[in-house]
Amino acid sequence: MRTPIIAGNWKMNNTIKEALGLIEEIKASKLNKDVEAVVCVPFICLSEAKKALENTEIKLGAQNMHWEESGAFTGEISPKMLKELGVDYVIIGHSERRQYFNETDETVNKKIKSSLNHGLKPIVCVGETLDEREANIEKDVVKKQIEKAFEGIEEKDLDNIVIAYEPIWAIGTGKTASSDDANNMLAFIRETIGNKYEEKKNDIRIQYGGSVKPSNIKELMDKEEIDGALVGGASLVAKDFVDLINF
Ligand code: PEP
Repeated sequence: MRTPIIAGNWKMNNTIKEALGLIEEIKASKLNKDVEAVVCVPFICLSEAKKALENTEIKLGAQNMHWEESGAFTGEISPKMLKELGVDYVIIGHSERRQYFNETDETVNKKIKSSLNHGLKPIVCVGETLDEREANIEKDVVKKQIEKAFEGIEEKDLDNIVIAYEPIWAIGTGKTASSDDANNMLAFIRETIGNKYEEKKNDIRIQYGGSVKPSNIKELMDKEEIDGALVGGASLVAKDFVDLINF
């Protein structure tokens, strides 16, 4: 049985004060204990968020990290720093990082390895652009991203990795992949993982991401392959995020 995982990606939203307000609202609600809930907050909020989440089941996530432990990388945050703050998850290779900050399949791979070496659980994002989908090459694109991301990753590490399939054209656009399309791609991702790690094929958790909201979560989660959601916009509204966790 794969435990469902709903992760909120706050992106560059919320000051510390706003973050604490949102966390308090989420904490005040009754949450389905069978669903793993994660909030991926801006770096500056991590420390206070960790304290606010004490004595709750809600996990803490970061949105990015450098692969090195320390060094001359101005403006970067290392896995060692995240670990010290008590971070559980870290989003790696989000399409916005790939699009605006030169994230490549190679850096994604380095970051996954480094996060695992530091006891952090990566949420590895993959997904195609609209042009790629219209050219019917979405599966080739995602296969390549998965193969590169998992280069040199050992089978035992798969227990600590979550994959998020996020078609770029569905992120923040209000367009959602149909539940059938999403399920189909997740099945393909599972096959691709199975080609390399047969034993873990049915264990690894795969999320869908892209304009997930309370009105479409149930239909998505009813699909066999969909183990959860990575959520941007709707995770910024306490009631919506709680509704997603309680789908
Ligand atoms: C995301 O940021 O990963 C995302 C899926 O955003 P949204 O839910 O707003 O489309």
